[in-house]
Amino acid sequence: MKTARSLVPLAMVVAIATGLVWWILRQPAPPTAVAPDVPIDEPLGDHPALSSLADPPDWEELNDWQSTITRDEFVRQLESVFTVSPKWREWFHIGETDVFIETGVPEQRFRLRFAKPELEGTNPRGWRTAAEMEPATEDRPLEGVRIAIDPGHIGGRWARIEERWFQIGQDAPVQEGDMTLMVAQLLEPRLEALGAEVSMVRKTTEPVTEYRPESLMDAAREIEPDSPQQLAERLFYRTAEIRARARRVNKTLRPDLVLCLHFNAESWGDPSNPTLVPRHHFHLLVNGAYTDSEVGLADQRYHLVRKIVEGIHPEEAGLAEAVASSFVRQTRLDPYLYEIDSKRALNVDNNPYIWARNLLANRLYQRPVIFLEPYVMNSTLDYPRIQAGDYEGIRTVDGKEQPSIFREYADAVADGLADYYRENRPVE
Ligand SMILES: [Zn+2]
Repeated sequence: MKTARSLVPLAMVVAIATGLVWWILRQPAPPTAVAPDVPIDEPLGDHPALSSLADPPDWEELNDWQSTITRDEFVRQLESVFTVSPKWREWFHIGETDVFIETGVPEQRFRLRFAKPELEGTNPRGWRTAAEMEPATEDRPLEGVRIAIDPGHIGGRWARIEERWFQIGQDAPVQEGDMTLMVAQLLEPRLEALGAEVSMVRKTTEPVTEYRPESLMDAAREIEPDSPQQLAERLFYRTAEIRARARRVNKTLRPDLVLCLHFNAESWGDPSNPTLVPRHHFHLLVNGAYTDSEVGLADQRYHLVRKIVEGIHPEEAGLAEAVASSFVRQTRLDPYLYEIDSKRALNVDNNPYIWARNLLANRLYQRPVIFLEPYVMNSTLDYPRIQAGDYEGIRTVDGKEQPSIFREYADAVADGLADYYRENRPVE
């Protein structure tokens, strides 16, 4: 990797340097250290204003949502879904008719006026709820629904760097980014057959971002002067990559919802000699449960407000419920349960399968996001099915008659979405 640096053309070096200078100049005063995004419980420095590689938010954009949400609804969502303690009151000053929100710039607060209960305005969001769509037929319940599929991680030659790789003996290596792409490719025609307009956030095992670990070494050195390599890699495959995907989702694809496909895993230790566990499970994530330090970051606070005023959560929760029940019906997976007093996850509607968490993807995508975490890649139950690969119909795998794990995944998602839109679109 070091030798590659000397091969980078001069123009690229200049472009990167210019980009870094521009980025540094755009930090609000006082300038602060870059704060790592995830793991989200990591200490975030002394006075962090922004998350890693985040642009300062444009609070003026929220003016489109003046007088569109009532005080009761705003506070209810803030308390029950989006925060985990009363500390949010440090940044939100709630009055009878409006809220003043700290923007991260001293002396500058953003004022959002509440709607009067009987005078709620129309919501200027760029996506549609099921209830706002035209009626659809029984056999094409997704007619005209714009769905972006986001296959989690990158896979391919990047799978080791992103720590989504393990291998047992001479078996085919397990690479999450390749597996999610396979599910995405199976899911796309299923959704189209139901009438959906499907787009893919990525179609290959190459990154969406232009950044590479080498181009993020300077940013990493600011936080980890002694051993920046690992952080530079993480800034690449997680932070920069998901930020690039968010731009694609929000500015180009502009869907009605996003499906983030993942496979779960339990700690496997040495990737060349991984531990298998005798259990598997399923859970589904929606956006919420911002920790106190996350609410304290101006960009995260902006996104939190935007989730509330756009009315993302009610739609997300409804979609999540339908997809979770379809998944459980078809796979009989057990729920994955967070600790009940967890500071990073909140249970949603007492459904053991649905949890609110503040992940980079479900925060930055300005759309309802269904973030799926089924199966356990290093489970004795799922590993043989992953090794069996994709196939049609039913086969005997690990002594049991079963469908391909990839098709089972795709079918469960497609059926859950069909149920949701049949139930919630207007009837002709
Ligand atoms: Zn994943």
